[in-house]
Amino acid sequence: EKRRWSSILGADLQDLAPATVFDQILAKALPSQVVFENDKVLAFRDIAPQAPVHILVIPKRRAGLTALRKASREQKGVLGEMMVAVAEIVRQENIEGGYRVIVNDGEEAGQSVHHLHMHILAGRPLAWPPG
Ligand code: IMP
Repeated sequence: EKRRWSSILGADLQDLAPATVFDQILAKALPSQVVFENDKVLAFRDIAPQAPVHILVIPKRRAGLTALRKASREQKGVLGEMMVAVAEIVRQENIEGGYRVIVNDGEEAGQSVHHLHMHILAGRPLAWPPG
C-alpha cells in the first residue's frame, strides 16, 4: 500500500521530517561552496572543516533519508550515485595520500543534520580508530 501511494505521489511526500539547513543550501537560500553537482547529488564544503579538505555529499531529494538507517532497496540508485560522486570528487580535487568517507548516524555518532550526508575528509593524517 505504502509503495503504491509513493509511486503515485512521489517519494518526497513520504518525507514529513522537518526541513534542515541542507534544504536551504539546495534552494540556494544559503550560500555554499559547491564542488560537485548532478541531477541526483550535491557536494559542498563543510562550514566547520575538520581537515584541510572537508566536503559533504548529499542527495538532492532527501525522500525520507534523514539517516542511513532509513535506506531502502528502492533507494539504491541514489545511494550508488553518492558513492560514485565521492570517487569523482576525489579525482576532481586531486586528493592524494588518502581520504576518509564518514556517515554519522544517530546522536552517539554525532549526527547533527537529519538529511543523509557523506563526509569526505582529507589533507592530513587521519587517526584510526576515529574518536
Ligand atoms: P553531521 O554532524 O554528521 O550531521 O554533519 C553535519 C555537518 O554539516 C557538520 O560537519 C557541519 O559543520 C555541517 N554544516 C552545518 N551547517 C552547514 C552549512 O550551512 N554549510 C555547510 N556545512 C554545514
